[in-house]
Amino acid sequence: MKALAAWRTVLDKHPPSAVRASAIGPKRPACETLHAMKRLTTAPNLALATLWADLLCHAGVPTTVQRQYASSIAGEVPPDQTLPELWVQDAEQFEHAGTLLHALRNPPHRHWACPRCHEVIDGPFEQCWNCGVAMPAC
Ligand SMILES: [Zn+2]
Repeated sequence: MKALAAWRTVLDKHPPSAVRASAIGPKRPACETLHAMKRLTTAPNLALATLWADLLCHAGVPTTVQRQYASSIAGEVPPDQTLPELWVQDAEQFEHAGTLLHALRNPPHRHWACPRCHEVIDGPFEQCWNCGVAMPAC
């Protein structure tokens, strides 16, 4: 829930444009899709790669995970060559995807006191861990 709340904050700051939403629409021929794809980054593991790709897709940036199962050959090839990769399906959305991913990986640091139970909350959280009250608006 906290990750979703943080993601909603990211989307409020960087909303997907109507042009990007239209890019999801009609399916393109496979050859055109291959030329338009661009590698965004590598992820330290498959769980994070899948989470990031899902969040980017929900933000209107179609993203796929490549090299999902390459970790099984680590040791036979350099380990950095086996990390899962995130690929943006439309190269025109590359910069927007990078901005969204950067915001996701660097959540804002907050320090606030819960108005109900007076617990001090430190970190990117928007909800009191003790009683569940939402962070008050600034
Ligand atoms: Zn509280």
